[in-house]
Amino acid sequence: MVDSTSEANLPLGILVVEDDREIRDMVTMMVKSMGYTVVTAVNGKDALTRLREHPIDIVLLDLMMPEMDGFEFCQKVREDPTLRDLHIIITSARDALEDKVRGLELGAADYLTKPFSLTELQARIKVGERIVRYQKMLRAQQVQLEHLAREDALTGLANRRRFEERAREELIRAGRYQHPLSLLLADLDHFKAINDTYGHPYGDLVLKEVGQALVRHCRSSDLCARYGGEEFAILLPETPLPESQFVAERLCAAVRDLPFTQGAKAILVTASFGVACFSVTNPQSLEELMKQADQALYVAKDKGRNRVEIYDPALKVS
Ligand code: GH3
Ligand code: MG
Ligand code: MG
Ligand code: MG
Repeated sequence: MVDSTSEANLPLGILVVEDDREIRDMVTMMVKSMGYTVVTAVNGKDALTRLREHPIDIVLLDLMMPEMDGFEFCQKVREDPTLRDLHIIITSARDALEDKVRGLELGAADYLTKPFSLTELQARIKVGERIVRYQKMLRAQQVQLEHLAREDALTGLANRRRFEERAREELIRAGRYQHPLSLLLADLDHFKAINDTYGHPYGDLVLKEVGQALVRHCRSSDLCARYGGEEFAILLPETPLPESQFVAERLCAAVRDLPFTQGAKAILVTASFGVACFSVTNPQSLEELMKQADQALYVAKDKGRNRVEIYDPALKVS
């Protein structure tokens, strides 16, 4: 399900933090020969700067260094949530148990005492790489799952959840900055008959094509969502009434003009639209705005479908 291959083959970035030049050069050469991208730093402070400049996955960290030692570096890394996946391997001449425990408690993943064999360091870096790659895969899966949880599986459009999240954000923005915002609700006309006549899979195809047509005819800053069944919701930020009515008319025509056929027979698919606008003077909740758009949609259905109606407060029904 998850494609994390885009990152899977990229070499990891390793930061060698060591004040002793000879050791630093030797370790750097060895790490480079393993195929990693290598960056060096001469103390903890320098290392924090490098972390901001380069994508780093594994840190080989000396403890005793001037300006900022390895313990303080670990502490700083721990305070920064963006660095939580950093795999730190301490390489130090200090071999007291309390130093090892302190380093590990401060967030290091591993501890190797000097003098170490390069073969052992290599083996530990490879363990680090396995862990880092696994973490990357989990994060990619998490991002993908979050995306899927907000996407409608049939049409690929935003689903109701994503629509409501974004709509609430836009309502807050519109209220705070007194900006216009419009909401359209579209419902396919006599869709049950399309399913009944041509079959459910054909109905699914119609839903997909209609969804894509709506997206094509909106701006990228608008949000088209499948709100449920054969109902779509479209959010138009920065759009006042005359313009949103114009957009709705355009979308209504776009659906009507879709060239559906069954054999040689053309099939007319239409939708009805209800439009409601955010009122700066009398701000509505999302629920109220949806209800207003729904009332306008109801009027559009009542007046014969395949048309756009604007919410009219005078016609308010409870
Ligand atoms: P109206 O013009 O009054 O909206 O009539 P309608 O037939 O479109 O309305 P109704 O609510 O009676 O029927 C909606 C239909 O939409 C019934 C339902 O089976 C169909 N539908 C809902 N979701 C899907 C879907 O995912 N795929 C397909 N093929 N049909 C769906
Ligand atoms: Mg040192
Ligand atoms: Mg419906
Ligand atoms: Mg319908």
